[in-house]
Amino acid sequence: YSAKNHGGDFCFYRAELNQRLHQRMQLDFDLRRALEKDEFFFEYQPIIDARTGRISAVEALIRWNSPEKGRVMPDVFIGLAEETGLILPLGEWVVRKACAKLREWQEAGLPLVRMCINISGRQFMQGDIYNVVSSALKENGIDPRYLELELTETCLIQNVEETTKKLGMLKELNVSISVDDFGTGYSSLQYLKNFPIDRLKIDRGFIKNAPHFANHRAIVDAIIGIAKAMDLKVIAEGVETVEQAEFLKARNCDGLQGYYFYRPLAEEPLVVVLCSQGDEEAPPSHFLATRV
Ligand code: C2E
Ligand code: MG
Ligand code: MG
Ligand code: MG
Repeated sequence: YSAKNHGGDFCFYRAELNQRLHQRMQLDFDLRRALEKDEFFFEYQPIIDARTGRISAVEALIRWNSPEKGRVMPDVFIGLAEETGLILPLGEWVVRKACAKLREWQEAGLPLVRMCINISGRQFMQGDIYNVVSSALKENGIDPRYLELELTETCLIQNVEETTKKLGMLKELNVSISVDDFGTGYSSLQYLKNFPIDRLKIDRGFIKNAPHFANHRAIVDAIIGIAKAMDLKVIAEGVETVEQAEFLKARNCDGLQGYYFYRPLAEEPLVVVLCSQGDEEAPPSHFLATRV
């Protein structure tokens, strides 16, 4: 254990750190360019109404179509975008794109459902979220009830006063608000009660083990109970098996989302699915024709 050895470790450590830093800077650069070149897009995962079996909403999930790397998932870049602040313009892109898509679908005569979008913590706390949302709704002439903002529990409890103010303003626009990944953020029920929230989305970590482990079953039961007591709707994320779906239906969970029903879909298959459950049997042909 010599001093020399120590130095060697340190140099190795520093080289690795430099490399990691370099990779992150490169990714940051690529992401900024991707935003300019319009390389982001959505996949849409349907959310099922547990009572009727019909699609009641879709969650828009961002992906990056990178010329070098192919399709890149949000776990790879949302965290970095939050750290660097790129999430502010990227998050604005998400809001505007979602509203533009709603308008496009409406104009094409599709049976519309709510579009849920993810708002990151920094975007909510630091960004001008109210103006971004209200102008995107106005510019596209969207009925605000078709837009739902998903905020994480951790984000909401960072600054309760600020959250209360911002949520109140957003609610005045008549958009819906849901709490994403619920159960992972240790929020106080008292705060939840005071926030103008419409839905809780149970984190998929609890759903995963619910049919088999008594403690997870108890947590899911408790969350559904809390939601009902507070007059909130509750949605289960990550439903992968028929057992999970049956368990949640039996507990009167309102909405079901997960691979058991649908994976996140590209726009075209989503349109087909929406149309096939609408009053019309076939998608409006002019819509599909423009999407090839
Ligand atoms: P989330 O909002 O909790 O979204 C649900 C994630 O669970 C999605 O992953 C979805 O594909 C995945 N999922 C859905 N059903 C199942 C299932 O049955 N089993 C499993 N194992 N996974 C399932 P995805 O698309 O990779 O997104 C990951 C996270 O990235 C999202 O978690 C959300 O926090 C974030 N994200 C996605 N799009 C956006 C966006 O536009 N803006 C921001 N700020 N964050 C986003
Ligand atoms: Mg979400
Ligand atoms: Mg979630
Ligand atoms: Mg999540």
